[in-house]
Amino acid sequence: MTNSEQDAVLDEVAAIRELIRNSGLRCTSARLAVMQRLRQAESPVTHAELAEELVPLGFDKATVFRNLSDLTDADLVTRTELGDHVWRFEIRDPDDPHEGKHPHFVCVDCGQVTCFSDVVFDKSTQKRANRIGRVTEILLKGHCRECGSA
Ligand SMILES: [Zn+2]
Ligand SMILES: [Zn+2]
Repeated sequence: MTNSEQDAVLDEVAAIRELIRNSGLRCTSARLAVMQRLRQAESPVTHAELAEELVPLGFDKATVFRNLSDLTDADLVTRTELGDHVWRFEIRDPDDPHEGKHPHFVCVDCGQVTCFSDVVFDKSTQKRANRIGRVTEILLKGHCRECGSA
């Protein structure tokens, strides 16, 4: 690792520490590891996927799950269920005006999940939706490029 890469990692750790502390939680090594992994992810990850990466670092599955719950309760992480009864977790962007509520695309063939962070569920749509009920997920289904071309 070069010096500047090392600096980037230290900056990232400092930023995460501050986020965790500002949320009122104690900054433990498990929370730090979970946040670090989620901030690198480009799509929501399951508890199993996280555990697979963090168990070799010395955290047990129960610890990973408990800390995921704590971070979710503290609004640092959002939890989504995309129709397969599996919770997926992703970092909540504090600057996101839509409060992390972006659509997700799920490939019905391989299960790959993609965030549609730039697709906006605008105010008037939100209003109409509110008349029907409380929207918890916006889900798009289809065949991803890889599966669709096979
Ligand atoms: Zn696919
Ligand atoms: Zn997402």
